[in-house]
Amino acid sequence: MTEALTEFDIIQRFFRVAGLAAVPGQHPGIQLGIGDDCALLTVPAGQQLAMSMDMLNEGIHFPVGAAAERIAHRALAVNLSDLAAMGATPAGFTLGLSLPNADPDWLAAFSRGLRDMAQCHACPLMGGDITGSADGRIGITIQVHGLISTGSALLRSGARPGDRVMVSGRLGNAAAALPMIQGQPGSTSEPDRIQLENSYFSPEPRLDLGRRLVGRASAAIDISDGLLADLRHIARASAVRLCLRASDVPVSAVARRVAGHEHALRHALCGGDDYELAFTVPPAACDTVGLLAEELGLQITEIGEVEAGEGVLCLDEQGSPLEMASAGYEHFRS
Ligand code: ADP
Ligand code: MG
Repeated sequence: MTEALTEFDIIQRFFRVAGLAAVPGQHPGIQLGIGDDCALLTVPAGQQLAMSMDMLNEGIHFPVGAAAERIAHRALAVNLSDLAAMGATPAGFTLGLSLPNADPDWLAAFSRGLRDMAQCHACPLMGGDITGSADGRIGITIQVHGLISTGSALLRSGARPGDRVMVSGRLGNAAAALPMIQGQPGSTSEPDRIQLENSYFSPEPRLDLGRRLVGRASAAIDISDGLLADLRHIARASAVRLCLRASDVPVSAVARRVAGHEHALRHALCGGDDYELAFTVPPAACDTVGLLAEELGLQITEIGEVEAGEGVLCLDEQGSPLEMASAGYEHFRS
């Protein structure tokens, strides 16, 4: 920290601010927010506290020099996405910041970005910590806290043979955005570039969908590492095999336009960072989930089935297993 702004100043000016910081009485369950040694949160009877943490490091999870507001969006969105995947409702978050210097402009923009996201998803800031960064790079750690009815969280382990595999939204944008975000020259049109960058920096955490899948889906996960890689976690945890039809995977039209058909499919299957939900649904609940798509105005696509066995199999139109690297495709992450 520079001498001009003390840690206390930073907290007061940029984090203990209206619209971002938790206000006891206004935010359900929170009795005490920023300012004491701990925040206090009451978990209502019959509910469980869902907690998840994601760390974002400059140069690994976002490019050096990315706009502070956008980094803030992404940092909170990827955390909220984990709550969505469990079917939990956000309660609040804590923030660990490691900064090379205390730049008031950067902090103001970062705070604004956090505030927008926090307000949009009713997830206020409850506390945190700030330190100087040892290596000169920005590090952001967020821990989200959410609430879920006891015993009803969507787990990775509930998929059963006969269930259908489904995915929300359209995939591939975040991976198609990467070359652009890494500063590689290209001929992408302005509207496509804007849409891809928004997908990368401001993924929409599917909280409403997650909540509505409780009691309907048998297993769920959010897509952070890539559809195939993440579904493999469900396959492992549930001790089943997931068999997908590549031609049914919803590939984003923008990704197709920018990356071409073949690459866009690869982005959708292996690219990661889309933060859509992938989930399995018992046949009896498929119709209700179909109605959910209409209600939420969100595309939900059936892409395969759960079978006995292990792993994830992805078939092409001829029914042959697709040859495709399954992980680590051009990733800006570790
Ligand atoms: P302590 O040294 O007792 O941990 P701090 O001076 O670090 O206390 O923090 C004072 C208060 O400010 C605490 O309530 C803490 O949660 C909060 N706080 C510190 N850093 C942040 C931050 N980056 N965002 C939100 N609240 C913060
Ligand atoms: Mg502290």
